[in-house]
Amino acid sequence: MMLRAMDRTMTCAEFQETLPELFEAHSDFSSNEHLRSCENCAALVRDLEYIAAQARLLLPIHDPSPAVWEHIQKAIRQDREPGASSASVGRK
Ligand SMILES: [Zn+2]
Repeated sequence: MMLRAMDRTMTCAEFQETLPELFEAHSDFSSNEHLRSCENCAALVRDLEYIAAQARLLLPIHDPSPAVWEHIQKAIRQDREPGASSASVGRK
């Protein structure tokens, strides 16, 4: 039987708040439940993995600097901006 605590569906906002931790822990995103059901966040993670890879090329160190996370979090915020379009990706 599934654990109820784990079974609760994460919102995109909740998931994205955990992203820096997941990246720092080198989590396996392919096994993430939210990503399996949410194409928006799956695309976001792909973008962030690309950004992180680029950052690693620029900064050949193991620990991402605060500036890197600032950049990533800025990218997340931009991604979540409603924008000029009226198309809003609502919740289920
Ligand atoms: Zn999501």
